[in-house]
Amino acid sequence: MKDYKDNPYFQLFSAQKNNHFKVSQSTSKARKKKLSVLQKAIESTYREEIVDALQKDLGKPKVETELTEIYQIIAEIKFAKRNLNQWMKKQSVSTPMSMLGASSYYIHEAKGVCLIISPWNFPFNLTFGPLVSAIAAGNTVIIKPSEMTPHSSALMAKIVADIFDESEVALVEGEVEASTKLLELPFNHIFFTGSPKVGKIVMEAASKHLTSVTLELGGKSPTIIDKTANIDKAAKKIVWGKFLNAGQICICPDYILVDESVKSKFIKACKKWLDHYFSKNPKASNSYGRIVTDNHFERLNSYLKNAKQLNAIFEVGGKTDADSKYIEPTIISDIKPEAKLLEEEIFGPILPVLSYNALDEAIAYVNSKERPLALYIFSKNKANVNKIINNTKAGGTCINNSIIHYANHNLPFGGINNSGIGKSHGYYGFEAFSNKRAIVKQHTFGITELLFPPYTNLKEKLAKFTVKWF
Ligand code: NAD
Repeated sequence: MKDYKDNPYFQLFSAQKNNHFKVSQSTSKARKKKLSVLQKAIESTYREEIVDALQKDLGKPKVETELTEIYQIIAEIKFAKRNLNQWMKKQSVSTPMSMLGASSYYIHEAKGVCLIISPWNFPFNLTFGPLVSAIAAGNTVIIKPSEMTPHSSALMAKIVADIFDESEVALVEGEVEASTKLLELPFNHIFFTGSPKVGKIVMEAASKHLTSVTLELGGKSPTIIDKTANIDKAAKKIVWGKFLNAGQICICPDYILVDESVKSKFIKACKKWLDHYFSKNPKASNSYGRIVTDNHFERLNSYLKNAKQLNAIFEVGGKTDADSKYIEPTIISDIKPEAKLLEEEIFGPILPVLSYNALDEAIAYVNSKERPLALYIFSKNKANVNKIINNTKAGGTCINNSIIHYANHNLPFGGINNSGIGKSHGYYGFEAFSNKRAIVKQHTFGITELLFPPYTNLKEKLAKFTVKWF
């Protein structure tokens, strides 16, 4: 095995490696106890500090922190605790007649030493959510959170150090360099949440050890609205989903494709809901967040400038303030295809509205881009909904709503190709951190033994009989 002695994280990795069999043999009771300790830390001990850290890092309103960070982690923990006994049970399967005398089952065994790399937009949820699945599956874990949200990362480091032994769960803070060094090590599984660009770097590093990966990535999630949709309700749900966390959500509606005949009605309804949610002055609203860093602010500002240069129509918003990293909720129409807003994942509070005359045009547009993490459909016409689902691909879809599929832990969450590989949440998260180990137990004489060498004419006949009848 390669010598990793110069790697700054090798000692930590080795401590977990030495411990991982013990952890993987832990009972469901022991794992649930660990999850309860994490639950208590999030729900009570550190709850106020979490709210405070997110206020500092993202200007995140308290209600949003409760709903999109604390609630999501607690829901994941409760779901895992409720179902863990069932998930950990050996799963019997039938055995073909040709193997008479044997029985078969599979178990979910822990993968071993895992790495979780998380992003900044929901720092607690997207770090502790996968951690819940990793613990439930019986793994040891090293976490590397994002450097972009330093208050949140420092608090997570404190929480992890407080409640876990580092030979079981440890958190490493640091910039990209820390990720790069960690990625050199031969982990048994890597769970990465972040951009498709970095996802490729992670996958390349993982390939050196043939380490399995779950990649929760991003991209441009389209929203299609047809002329039969309830436009007011569509606007209410889209404006909520788009401007939550100031648009810094992997599954927020990235752009709209609306039937031309209802486009102005839709934009008018969006204006109404924006006023309702954030008032006429969103900057003063305590329901509206801020952009995470100066770099991301500049990136979004450059999209706005580019749209202006291309003579797009600013239906709402467009104002910015660099000092407070504020970008007004903005809706833009009449955008040229080459605009940056239509090429890159926006990941901010800017909503481009495109229109179509025939549904096929909208479908063709979606299919001309990378496969999205989410695709939203607003329609009352069942045939249209089915047509869109059957002729596009996406990680997940909401019909007549946005975002909320994320919150159902009975559903797999994840992307497809450019928007991700593998699934998370509930059982699917547990599955991602488990190896399904196939086991066949021979009880008595096995019929297969009749076919062992030396091969005779009789055995040839028996083999043919097996092919024909079993
Ligand atoms: P990012 O890819 O820039 O960073 C994610 C993590 O990777 C961070 O911890 C960062 O330190 C690390 N990293 C950055 N560059 C690296 C490199 N060269 N080598 C190794 N590690 C590196 O993503 P981000 O800006 O933190 O988050 C935004 C992106 O994440 C968006 O594309 C968004 O759609 C996506 N996202 C996806 C989900 C999901 O569940 N699918 C959730 C949230 C965000």
